[in-house]
Amino acid sequence: RFITFEGIDGAGKSSQIAALVALLEARGIAVEQTREPGGTPLGERLRDVLLHEPMHLETEAMLMFAARREHLAARILPALEAGRWVVSDRFSDATYAYQVSGRGLAEDKFDALERWVHPGFQPDLTLLFDLAPAVAAARVAGTGNAPDRFERERQDFFERVRAGYLARAARAPERFRVIDATRPPEAIRAEIEAVVRERWFA
Ligand code: C5P
Repeated sequence: RFITFEGIDGAGKSSQIAALVALLEARGIAVEQTREPGGTPLGERLRDVLLHEPMHLETEAMLMFAARREHLAARILPALEAGRWVVSDRFSDATYAYQVSGRGLAEDKFDALERWVHPGFQPDLTLLFDLAPAVAAARVAGTGNAPDRFERERQDFFERVRAGYLARAARAPERFRVIDATRPPEAIRAEIEAVVRERWFA
């Protein structure tokens, strides 16, 4: 099984990924925990470039998918074939949300790259952590200060990313589970456990 976690920065994915991996391992399941961009030595180098080097939007999209191609070939597909479960922090839905919806990459270019890199292949389950960017920003910053001009611009960007995620989820409702990420971590952990139990351990 292939499970992905998605959501805007500050949505609280990380601690829930650790909890899900622990839950699966406690059931005796071998789990491969990974992330994007990254997940392989080459992918991590591409991640470093992507996060720090200014570049054209289409270059960014192609590098994301180049890293993903490597990730699929070197890690995700071999693990799935060996019967292990793969839990990834982000996959192609993030490229749709950030590069297409957030930054304006042409949708047909995204579609072409996705068809090229993983035709007919998608996660079995995608957990989308949904919350208002203002709430996520306040969590990250940990301050009650009113947002300045730059912060508002950032929040507008994350509003578009959030809308992109929700649009993707609406097109594949059986694959996605939209999680209200404003709730306490314990409630979210219980919801994820229930979803996984219902799907695979019922
Ligand atoms: O999820 P993670 O924190 O590892 O992502 C690292 C950074 O890359 C974040 O700031 C995220 O917003 C950004 N990112 C992006 N486009 C993607 C995936 C991540 O801009 N497709």
